[in-house]
Amino acid sequence: MDTRSDRIVEAARRILETIPPDVTLQAAAKTRTLEEVEAVIRAGVSQIGFNYVQESIPIIQTINDRAQWHMIGHLQHNKAKLAVQHFDMIETVDSWKLAQTIDRRCADIGKRMPVLVEVNSGREPNKTGVRPEAVDELVGRMSELEHIRVEGLMTMGPRFGNPEDSRPYFKVTRAIFERLAVKDLPNVTMQFLSMGMSNSYQIAIEEGANIIRIGTRLFGERQ
Ligand SMILES: *Cc1c(COP(=O)(O)O)cnc(C)c1O
Repeated sequence: MDTRSDRIVEAARRILETIPPDVTLQAAAKTRTLEEVEAVIRAGVSQIGFNYVQESIPIIQTINDRAQWHMIGHLQHNKAKLAVQHFDMIETVDSWKLAQTIDRRCADIGKRMPVLVEVNSGREPNKTGVRPEAVDELVGRMSELEHIRVEGLMTMGPRFGNPEDSRPYFKVTRAIFERLAVKDLPNVTMQFLSMGMSNSYQIAIEEGANIIRIGTRLFGERQ
């Protein structure tokens, strides 16, 4: 084992030791190598997030069912076919059109895909995600699609700055999560609340996250 892998294993174990057992540590692995991903798995991480379909496929094919694979980047329609073949969950559904595309591609291969709806919790223009006031309508429509299942919500929030500044974003998302949970829509369960990154994951856990997506704090700064 080289020292770089040792450092990653050490970082992963430190985080795993300090988070509650019902919170899943997902490694956000964009731009990382197979060796780096292998190191976090060795440390006990079992969920890996990727932003780009193309870079993820060789790593998914090598590691395969030793981990679960989550798509956490914006999904382009022309990548949906590959995404539904290779990923276990798509966390970034943010339009009816994308939901329908995923549904059709899943129908082609006889799969039902667990998805999260991405919330633009800061209501920022030019950001991905559905505005908070539009989430209920989208989820309502998605509940009628036969080849996807809505299992929760995901949000980004600010990457940098004071972690406390993320709290309002997480609160907004949590409130929608709670509201949808009691609606009892077909094919919709509010099981997963994916929020919090390297700088904000403790705040996210306080606000109810049960998936935290960590990149820098596991793997180091990206080149
Ligand atoms: C990169 C990324 C993360 C992790 O961010 P860090 O600040 O490196 O922990 C989490 N979620 C998404 C969607 C990302 O693209």
